[in-house]
Amino acid sequence: MRGRRRTSGIVHLVGAGPGDPGLITTRGRDLLARADVVIADALASRELVKLAPLGAEQIDAGKRCGRHGVEQGAVNRLMIDRARRGLRVVRLKGGDPSLFGRGGEEAEALRRARVPFTVVPGVTAALGAAAWAGIPLTHRRHASTVVFTTGHLDPDKRGGRPDWKALASADTLVFYMGVKRLPGIVGCLLRAGMSQKTPVALVRWATLPGQETVTGRLADIVSLARAARLRPPALMIAGRVARLRPRLDWFGRLPLRGRTIVVTRPRDQAGPFVEALRELGAGVILAPAIVLRPPRSMVRLDRALARVASYDYLVFTSVNGVARLFARLLETRRDIRDLQGVDILAIGPATAAAVEARGLRVAAVPAEHRAEGIVKMMGRRRLAGARVLVPRAAVARDVLIKELRRRGARVDVVEVYRTAPSREGADEIRRALRRGRVDLITFTSSSTVTSFARLFRGREEARRIRRVPVAAIGPITAASARREGFRVALMPRTYTVPDLTRAVVRWFRSFPSGTLRAS
Ligand code: SAH
Repeated sequence: MRGRRRTSGIVHLVGAGPGDPGLITTRGRDLLARADVVIADALASRELVKLAPLGAEQIDAGKRCGRHGVEQGAVNRLMIDRARRGLRVVRLKGGDPSLFGRGGEEAEALRRARVPFTVVPGVTAALGAAAWAGIPLTHRRHASTVVFTTGHLDPDKRGGRPDWKALASADTLVFYMGVKRLPGIVGCLLRAGMSQKTPVALVRWATLPGQETVTGRLADIVSLARAARLRPPALMIAGRVARLRPRLDWFGRLPLRGRTIVVTRPRDQAGPFVEALRELGAGVILAPAIVLRPPRSMVRLDRALARVASYDYLVFTSVNGVARLFARLLETRRDIRDLQGVDILAIGPATAAAVEARGLRVAAVPAEHRAEGIVKMMGRRRLAGARVLVPRAAVARDVLIKELRRRGARVDVVEVYRTAPSREGADEIRRALRRGRVDLITFTSSSTVTSFARLFRGREEARRIRRVPVAAIGPITAASARREGFRVALMPRTYTVPDLTRAVVRWFRSFPSGTLRAS
């Protein structure tokens, strides 16, 4: 025990980066993973908040677009209170904590209260916007000075009125600002002598899939922004470097740029697919529809494991089946040596890789990655009297089992995990649907189709979700999707996630350009 001395809490003021959750520092991420309390700004990525441990207290201190969230004094009191209770607090702030984000004031309040704190820098919005819009803030030929400012027009604001002449003399100017202030700022710059022809870019939601950019000159940017109905949060980059954007805009050239794609896979399996789609520029909404849980009873599984060496075949139909079976093997004080002499089959390459990652060779992977493929492949082997163990979810298709039994195999199907419905992502999809912004739904297994469809029960939303084209990983999944009333627009030739990803890219590319949404 710690005796009478109370552990002292601490507050970490952590920069979350401009939006893309990948832009936090590793230090920030580590602190989040060990936080007891997370107090997050509206502009800090929600994905990052999810990195906190499950039991951590999450406080939304969002202030945005004039809507008032938790007021500053209250945020300070919360941080101080939690730290004094001995807790580790991460105060997650958009961009960098010290740039136009009151990080300095929060640090002062903590100092006054004698609460220990640290500051972890972040990628500020200016840097995120510059990178993602293809605008180098300095450039040997075009710019050697850069200014970050909010260009306060309010004479009462402490920090004073800017010296517009001095600002206008910088090569590159970045304004963190409310869009409403744009006309005022542009007016001041012009009056201070900045050329009307100065190239300007406005970047909204920098580094996020929904990033929007408006480019023009100082003379016409106000009307262009109005025509584009640009809303916050946005910032302005003014200077010759903004002219380089058409050549350096890598983000706009990504094949899935501007597309919103729904991924319906359990969270712990979705990673590689989601990452691949994001890397190609897509906005991904993860809606797992199901969560994986341990079976209600381990009795049958444990009984099978106790005599696992007596099976001729061990057939895996999912990565998850592999993970759960080997986990249980260890939990019951066994290990892979118990599997000697058992031939291991896997439904597809990912499942096979999961087996081989555990130091075991897979005897065979069927050419066709579905249950029928396994049956076909095993058909060439002697199945009469063979003992087969199939660890899988309780509700899985039965073609495999039926066929194996028909061929004389003695099959034990044991539940290694079960699925339960999950609502995660449903609200986000609803919001995106209302704005007509869901471009594709992907299904990678039959079992998620029904659970996913059930998330949208209202008449209107049920109709809307079925208007979105569907990508199915294979024919069985496609059939399930059609049965639920979805329109299957594409399916890869081989039924793996990398092939599905390639098929998605090809499908979007084949759109007549008029149907592409502006990006
Ligand atoms: N501390 C933050 C800035 C907070 S002030 C940082 O370092 O980035 C908020 C202003 O930052 C917004 O009004 C907007 O001008 C700008 N901003 C923040 N995130 C942005 C983003 N993703 N895209 C464009 N502008 C952003």
